[in-house]
Amino acid sequence: MIQITQDLLSRADCSALDEKDPLAGCKSRFALPDGEVYLDGNSLGALPKAVVERMQRAIVNEWGSGLIRSWNDAGWYPAPQRTGAKIARLIGADSDEVIVCDSTSVNLFKVLVAASRLRPDRTVLLVERGNFPTDVYVASETGNLLGLEVLAVEPDEIIPTITELGERLAIVQLTEVNYKSGRIYDMTRITAEAHNVGALAIWDLCHSSGALPVRLNACEVDFAVGCGYKYLNGGPGAPAYVFVARRHLSDVRNPISGWHGHARPFEFTHEFEPHGGIDRMLIGTAPQLSLLALEEAVGVFDDVDMEVVRTKSRALGDLFIRLVDQELAEFGFGLASPRNSAERGSQVSLVHSEGYAIMQALIDAGVIGDFRAPDIMRFGFAALYIGYEDIWESVARLKTIMQGRVWDDPRHKARKAVT
Ligand SMILES: *Cc1c(COP(=O)(O)O)cnc(C)c1O
Repeated sequence: MIQITQDLLSRADCSALDEKDPLAGCKSRFALPDGEVYLDGNSLGALPKAVVERMQRAIVNEWGSGLIRSWNDAGWYPAPQRTGAKIARLIGADSDEVIVCDSTSVNLFKVLVAASRLRPDRTVLLVERGNFPTDVYVASETGNLLGLEVLAVEPDEIIPTITELGERLAIVQLTEVNYKSGRIYDMTRITAEAHNVGALAIWDLCHSSGALPVRLNACEVDFAVGCGYKYLNGGPGAPAYVFVARRHLSDVRNPISGWHGHARPFEFTHEFEPHGGIDRMLIGTAPQLSLLALEEAVGVFDDVDMEVVRTKSRALGDLFIRLVDQELAEFGFGLASPRNSAERGSQVSLVHSEGYAIMQALIDAGVIGDFRAPDIMRFGFAALYIGYEDIWESVARLKTIMQGRVWDDPRHKARKAVT
């Protein structure tokens, strides 16, 4: 993918790659601080410039002047559906199978309960032990609530365990790209294995949507959830989304039967009658400003081909790994992500025993990544706003920090609440 002939890469090689980059123009769609390299789009996406203007309008005109009328006049009410339809294109779903609502954690609960009720005679819920903690926590309490056994296994045990459990298995719930290692799980294969034994598959797309092409319907996925504030750039705490395959829609019950999931919310009837479509996954009133910010942010992808994003993000990760090998060999970093970019999402994780302090020193030097206990330094490569020379610059600043032991300072070692 990166075609460089000589042994050692230089900054000039990296800037030559930027010149040929079909996505280079997308960076100007984002408001990013000068002189910094932002490698944490996997945790909080950057601010699209269009969102600033959209928020100004939403707050001053629509809320300030329009007041309650804006639910109708400014199109606030159908924003969950509109935004869901935009996200659907990015994840290989139909526009009426995705809706924006709640948080990923809440949506996980909703789909876990809904899915397990479609398999009432089965007793086991299978998850990955190393998944993002909220996924495992929510699965485990949902299991308690429903009297299901929750089995948490290592990545390589997933497929053999599905076969072994057979008719006892109700649901497999996994995240496509692991948050720590960036490892990709085979959605096609695992979903097919689950279906072979009659179970359902729920996929969490938090580290997939906006980073790589997802093909939910081609993989025949049953349910999915995902996050609005990571690669979709929806802003801090942006609402999440939920996908239900059309074949399940009429049978699915949302365990939190709020008024927005009703067939006719504004008739205010006393009996709950679920909406006929994906709206039944709604609960209550959306965080409207955050939702409008997310809608505008997702618009950044309207003319973007996710295959092109994927190609570039693989190349950025490959370049980063190659430069870490070339420039930082003596400093004791390990690679926690797959070296093969086909098996890796849009991030590269390094392991270092002083990872926390090194990351703090690096952030201080204007290269922003993050840290996950106990020893993982994460670098996310959002292909819309990160270039090849940015990767060179990041590794160069990291090298300066390692050579000067800049990290070895109490200031960089004090743990903050959010790492
Ligand atoms: C980011 C992330 C979440 C976040 O859940 P919230 O409810 O938004 O806090 C959940 N699961 C995975 C796999 C994530 O990466």
